[in-house]
Amino acid sequence: MCGIVGFTGNLPAAPLLLDGLHRLEYRGYDSAGIAVLENGKITTEKTVGRIKSLIDSTDNGKTVSGNIGIGHTRWATHGAPSLENAHPHLSGNCKFAVVHNGIIENYSTLRKELKNEGVKFLSQTDTEVVPHLLEKYYNGNLIEAVSKVVKMLEGSFALGIICTDYPDTLVAAKRFSPLILGVSDKGNILASDVTAIASLTKDIIYLGDDEIAVLTPDKTEVVDLSGKALEKEVSEITWDVSAAEKGGFEHFMMKEIFEQPKAIKQTLSGRIKNGEVVFEDFTLTADKLKGINRIVIIACGSAYHAGIVGKYVIEDMTRIPCEVDLASEFRYRNPIIDDETLTIVISQSGETADTLAALKEAKRLGSHVISIVNVVGSSIANASDDVIYTWAGPEIAVATTKGYSTQVSVMYLFAAWAAKHLGTKDDKYIADFLAEVKALPQKIEKILLQKDRLKEMAKRCVNTQSLFFIGRNLDYAVALEASLKLKEISYIHSEAYAAGELKHGTISLIEEDRTVFALSCYNDLADKMLSNIKEVAARGAYVITCANEGETEFEKESNQMIYVPKVHELLVASTEVIPFQIYAYYVAYHKGCDIDKPRNLAKSVTVE
Ligand code: GLU
Repeated sequence: MCGIVGFTGNLPAAPLLLDGLHRLEYRGYDSAGIAVLENGKITTEKTVGRIKSLIDSTDNGKTVSGNIGIGHTRWATHGAPSLENAHPHLSGNCKFAVVHNGIIENYSTLRKELKNEGVKFLSQTDTEVVPHLLEKYYNGNLIEAVSKVVKMLEGSFALGIICTDYPDTLVAAKRFSPLILGVSDKGNILASDVTAIASLTKDIIYLGDDEIAVLTPDKTEVVDLSGKALEKEVSEITWDVSAAEKGGFEHFMMKEIFEQPKAIKQTLSGRIKNGEVVFEDFTLTADKLKGINRIVIIACGSAYHAGIVGKYVIEDMTRIPCEVDLASEFRYRNPIIDDETLTIVISQSGETADTLAALKEAKRLGSHVISIVNVVGSSIANASDDVIYTWAGPEIAVATTKGYSTQVSVMYLFAAWAAKHLGTKDDKYIADFLAEVKALPQKIEKILLQKDRLKEMAKRCVNTQSLFFIGRNLDYAVALEASLKLKEISYIHSEAYAAGELKHGTISLIEEDRTVFALSCYNDLADKMLSNIKEVAARGAYVITCANEGETEFEKESNQMIYVPKVHELLVASTEVIPFQIYAYYVAYHKGCDIDKPRNLAKSVTVE
């Protein structure tokens, strides 16, 4: 998820690795480390702080001599940010050092097997199985050992490997995580993206999935997993390297919007097995779940909106009554909670002060607490009985997009898990539902293609003072998030309304040319939504309707349409929210707002 860099050549490796890691800092990280090989010995230096502290502690790399090495910035997914968990990781015999980005899904099986064979693990990471496996399968041929181990791994990874028997050979492999090789006459380099390579060379090779790169100071070779040499094209970086930080986008927010398919895949990774959901190390047992008669979801901001999606989905699938509460309200109203209540708290950063306080209150009252957070080892994660990490990767834009989408995805997983254990949905229903959850990333990719059209459409709202989002059921849940997104970054006043509630007051605000977004993807209530659209259209509203592809019945009453691919009824939040994130982005863009850092807002709200 974060950054890898590796070098072998005619220059001291450590300063180059530190420079590369420094350039990868924008990707976000919680800890970092380097390993350098010299005279048959690997030296590692790690920090739980900033790269700057590695630079200081090694006198800018001077104290770690050697011309070959690997470096890593970590965004923890398995095991808290700590020195033991920071990469590089070593094999027991200290022959191999490994850096890894991504998630090894089958690590727990591999770890158990290795432990049974007497291997001692020094970290909680999924990564550490790799150096131990290399030690196990190495019989003098590094490439053979790497390809054998890579074949055993499931999940996503970019790996950088050094071995004391190979004093100048750097090996890399990847599957689904990015890795780029740089070719130069001073040596050869690898990194997660070009920002870390460009200071040395502009000649790069893109490593493909299940390919192994073998770098020596004067050669870069690529082989497939059977050892067959592959012809790789060397291309020249001709574009602005600083744009790489944002993946070629102008702002982190748009980069993160586009990262959503990948982020959701990561959230699901390893958690859907044979048509059911598996949560590793969950202490909430099926028996305990059966004793739960109420679920309370607590969160703030967009996480609260993800919780509202959760309420609809969990209630539908489990028939357990589910309430959603704002953390800042919950904690001060003498809440009614006991040991038959399950509490779910949601926070991207895991540090949201109000949510943490609410969590502690729920625990004090005897509730089992599950947290859904993105940051491993965060205060909320540590204080919970169980944690389901979203594994969205670092989110840099203040307005959340992939954070929200991955939280919603966890809601689906939890609902399916609970429905299975409670027997409220049969196995076929759950397997079909999960197959649709797995198909979401692909459908979201399709929606992202509408970016340019949404950019044009968004011009309409540049001078708008106030507007409305309406929807029912899950469409209403999305309306809340769509409205917040627009408010946060474009500073336009907007309100999300349950469409059936309009006529109880707010309809008086509908006047000629007032923009109303009608969210109409939840099919069961399509007819009701059509009536609500007619209500506002009759009062002069400019209606922009979002509906499922092929459902053209709204066109007559709407001024503009946005279509999204049809998904399972309970999953509409995941598709429907995407065009509104893009729309909000472009309204802010056309208005010239500071999109990644909206005024008065902070990414992690650690004050009350
Ligand atoms: N899953 C690995 C860990 O938790 C790598 C995380 C990353 O990509 O930085 O250590």
